[in-house]
Amino acid sequence: MENAPRTGFIYLDNAATTKVSKTALAAMMPYMDEIYGNPSSLHSAGQRAAEALLEARKKIAGCLGCKEKEITFTSGGSEADNQAILSAARIGAQKGKKHIISTAIEHHAVLHTLQKLEKEGFRITLLDVSEDGLVTAEEVAEAICPDTCLVSVIYANNEIGTIQPIEKIGEVCRAKQVLFHTDAVQAAGHVRIDVEAQKIDMLSLAAHKFHGPKGVGALYVRSGILLTSLIEGGAQERGKRAGTENIPAIMGMAAALEEACGAIDKNAEKQIRLRDRLAEGLSQIPHAVLNGSRTNRLPGNVNFCFEGIEGESLLLLLDDKGICASSGSACTSGSLDPSHVLLAIGRPHEIAHGSLRLTLSEETTEEEIEDTIKAVKETVEYLRSISPIWRDLINGKKEFVIK
Ligand SMILES: *Cc1c(COP(=O)(O)O)cnc(C)c1O
Repeated sequence: MENAPRTGFIYLDNAATTKVSKTALAAMMPYMDEIYGNPSSLHSAGQRAAEALLEARKKIAGCLGCKEKEITFTSGGSEADNQAILSAARIGAQKGKKHIISTAIEHHAVLHTLQKLEKEGFRITLLDVSEDGLVTAEEVAEAICPDTCLVSVIYANNEIGTIQPIEKIGEVCRAKQVLFHTDAVQAAGHVRIDVEAQKIDMLSLAAHKFHGPKGVGALYVRSGILLTSLIEGGAQERGKRAGTENIPAIMGMAAALEEACGAIDKNAEKQIRLRDRLAEGLSQIPHAVLNGSRTNRLPGNVNFCFEGIEGESLLLLLDDKGICASSGSACTSGSLDPSHVLLAIGRPHEIAHGSLRLTLSEETTEEEIEDTIKAVKETVEYLRSISPIWRDLINGKKEFVIK
């Protein structure tokens, strides 16, 4: 039926979080109901929970290509990033190695941890990225010094979707005997990961980015690398993460990852088609530019800058039209600083402010994409019609940055 009133909204903010899948939900329910034992208890109720925990660990290990004992459960991506980096820093410091290499486009969970270490006397090198948002293995190799203890590179960027050459970087790090961590929170469940083949030593993931529940994640750590615990207490997670395990969430995460990895090619193919259609539609808007690489990019990520536009205004007007999107121009703290990622790929401040991130899921439909293209076109046109900056641009008083 044409023009039928839409129920609900068009959700295009899957990089922020995803809907819990039916499979994940079903996997969680028994553990919030009759299977409530504590896995550390010796009685049968506890042992049932302990067996479930082991199953979940095996499933996650299976999806990453590692052993189950190399998986530590955490409260999410941020905790996994913190624990990986602080552990590698501790190991490095014991050998007098206090240099860490990372990139300018990491998530704040990595950047802020590195800033903390810098205050404690570590030397931090943040590699610049190309206009596409890429670092190269050669650049990593050149930055490695005798005192480098860690290289941490985001697998796929959460704002612009750029996928890094992880395997090549892994090779460089392994050859130079430097630990390699990757924040794979946006990648897990969306692109194929094999920690053995890619020579990854540590990897962070979070369930809620692949249709699992919020507040749970995992850290893969190659055997032989000693983790430092961030939380002291009981001996859970082999003494590396105290506190009774969140069994329902862990079960949901394992089911969600298994489901996502089982459908990875099919989901990617569908999303790439819709992503490219969305990008093509939006690039018809004058003075608009796609951020990030056209090809080395997450299947569901589209990110644009529109000249003469305020990202916040665009988001609010799109929300009025029932479209949930995100902007690179404000972080959750409500700061108005432009995104460090957009600045790192060379977008000037005034352009970085006018960004729009639309992130798809396998449930996104063609109709939703067409409606979104139309809505963004109309909204950008409207905002420009009332913008004094836009008037200066078209009157030639200011120069366009985006041609
Ligand atoms: C979401 C995200 C995180 C943080 O994960 P939480 O589970 O929200 O703590 C870290 N890194 C990246 C790349 C992310 O997208």
